[in-house]
Amino acid sequence: MLSYRHAYHAGNHADVLKHLVLLALFDKLLAKDKPITYIDTHSGAGLYDLKGEFAAVNAEYATGVGVFEAKQINNPLLQSYLDEINRCNPLGGAQFYPGSPFLARSVLRPVDKLHLIELHSSEIDVLRDNVGRDSRVRIHNRDAFEGLLALTPPEPRRGLALIDPSYEDKQDYKRVVSTLKKVHRRWPVGIIAIWYPLLAKQRDQGEALVRAIAREGFPDVLDIQLSVSEPQEEFGMHGSGMLILNAPWRLDDTIESALGELAPMMGDAASYRVTSL
Ligand code: SAM
Repeated sequence: MLSYRHAYHAGNHADVLKHLVLLALFDKLLAKDKPITYIDTHSGAGLYDLKGEFAAVNAEYATGVGVFEAKQINNPLLQSYLDEINRCNPLGGAQFYPGSPFLARSVLRPVDKLHLIELHSSEIDVLRDNVGRDSRVRIHNRDAFEGLLALTPPEPRRGLALIDPSYEDKQDYKRVVSTLKKVHRRWPVGIIAIWYPLLAKQRDQGEALVRAIAREGFPDVLDIQLSVSEPQEEFGMHGSGMLILNAPWRLDDTIESALGELAPMMGDAASYRVTSL
């Protein structure tokens, strides 16, 4: 049974990194007229209330999206991210935070298709309420990895899959790699973005995931990391990463310039790294 609820973590530093990279990927894909498919393997609830009871428990958003408060922003990707948040808060403020399905639905065009997968028995209902009433959207209540395989190659072929597990189940690390191998064989042109956590030294399987993916020899792989503090010995997530397969041309430049402005806003210990594998 799944117990993870993303509402506890919505808008944290990991969401900021993931959603910035997602918007940058959409921007590259939407530069051409051709329709695209977006597959979100771990969709979550779609939209989060940062003033709600879950988000209030640890107020993780305060050191994530909260760092933008009252800041002057120059970078265009950071500005698009803030524009998307503002769109969810038409009356002002920053109460509502868009998850990956909501961002995708906002930026994609009438010709594009969205497949949203979510296994959790209550999250799926919230997701349906938040993004279901849209003829471009198909919602699938099933396992992420099986669902992704079943949906690939998608039609239209151009497009992007976001794999964003909670890694609550440690098998997720292995399943990411084994699923990627099959998906890439079936869908060689697909862009695939994988989120992973950077955890305390004794638990860090994120770097091992990066090495495992590097060994597979996938084309044009970019590894993007944002860390907000020094790694602890035993517990805690000090940062996170996004691995991109078939990374679009100059995605690295786009991300480097956004993180160059963002990291100092996240504190003196924050750092980032963009590496081609
Ligand atoms: N992608 C979302 C976003 O950026 O807004 C956040 C997703 S959250 C990190 C991970 C989600 O995956 C949770 O809602 C959880 O219920 C779901 N999940 C966990 N294991 C799953 C599986 N095997 N198949 C499908 N969904 C799963």
